[in-house]
Amino acid sequence: MRLHFDVGLCVRAKSKFSECTKCVDVCPSSIQMVDNLPSFPVSTGVEAAACVGICPTQAFKLSDFSTTEFFFRFLDSKVRLISPKVNVPCVSVLSVEHLISLALASDETISIDLRSYQEGSLLLGHIEAMIEEANFVLSSFCDKQLQTNLVKHEEEKQLSLEDTFEQETSRRDFFKNASLKGAIKHKMAFEDAVNADEMQHFEIDSSVISKIKDKHLPDKRKILFTTLKRAKVPEVFEVLPQEEVSFISQKYVTEACTNCQICYRICPTGALSSDHKFSLIHFDTMLCVKCHLCHDACEPDAIKLQNGFEIKEFFEPTQRTLATFNVKRCIECGNSFTYTGGEQICPRCRVEEEEAVFLHANAKRMRGEE
Ligand code: SF4
Ligand code: SF4
Ligand code: SF4
Repeated sequence: MRLHFDVGLCVRAKSKFSECTKCVDVCPSSIQMVDNLPSFPVSTGVEAAACVGICPTQAFKLSDFSTTEFFFRFLDSKVRLISPKVNVPCVSVLSVEHLISLALASDETISIDLRSYQEGSLLLGHIEAMIEEANFVLSSFCDKQLQTNLVKHEEEKQLSLEDTFEQETSRRDFFKNASLKGAIKHKMAFEDAVNADEMQHFEIDSSVISKIKDKHLPDKRKILFTTLKRAKVPEVFEVLPQEEVSFISQKYVTEACTNCQICYRICPTGALSSDHKFSLIHFDTMLCVKCHLCHDACEPDAIKLQNGFEIKEFFEPTQRTLATFNVKRCIECGNSFTYTGGEQICPRCRVEEEEAVFLHANAKRMRGEE
């Protein structure tokens, strides 16, 4: 099983200002930054699975294991144990979103087998943090929780796993041979569910839906969409501290914003967007993967994380307008620009005008006229 990296999906390839190091932080022994992009030896394999799970844009993937396929196959099976000994190459290949979605979509409690991880290791710490976050988020709107190491009646469990997975002995064989019938059926339903109609249930505007199709919304977020749509809406919506939620965020924009257009042009998922005149900044929380690119690229540091994350967004997503701009045509060149008062001249013409005044004054000085 090999690790693949799609550079086009990495936010560092979208902007040199990106400071994302999530993949390196979680797997420093295999991944390094080289020329501002993640790099790893050709032989790197499944030991680096944590980068697959943690990357906000799903730029990493493994040959022979798809987290999306796993999601549907797992739910299709009777097994309610996630274990590196049985059905995943490593628990870290999953993300917090996968864990929340699996817990939500399963009628029975899911247990995660951590017994093969080394006590005190970076990897175990990362997996435990993911499970803790998933449980924390789940506890804010439902009574489902993920459990760890509760592998009761191990022999019975193993027997049932063997029944379900047709007694395959190696993981590689398991992935090659197992029937995908059920998974494909559910995956098709999932693809259908993530079409425009389903998103409109979430009151996501059709223009945004077409934008999402142009941009890249990771499968793990689409899975979360579909599972949340089927979840019971809580009576009270909690607000969680933003630092406790790693995979989604809410934002606001301060008056320092110059409408340079960078954030909504480079946002990889379409969470940030504008209209055809670039006269506003829209934000769709459910499309944000908290990759931090918009913050890293904003020169005046005008886009900020909202302190709390509102669980309401999971059930009643909104598109918020973070800023509006007075866009006018420059009386010199005719191009549109963000007008902030004074003469109706765009920044470029203003600079040219200032340069012309300076050169004229300089020439007069040299002729001794001043
Ligand atoms: S975690 Fe993903 S987006 Fe971030 S640097 Fe690594 S590959 Fe790029
Ligand atoms: S928030 Fe920052 S990056 Fe976005 S338009 Fe305003 S100044 Fe530019
Ligand atoms: S809004 Fe910002 S943090 Fe969210 S996905 Fe877009 S660029 Fe990333």
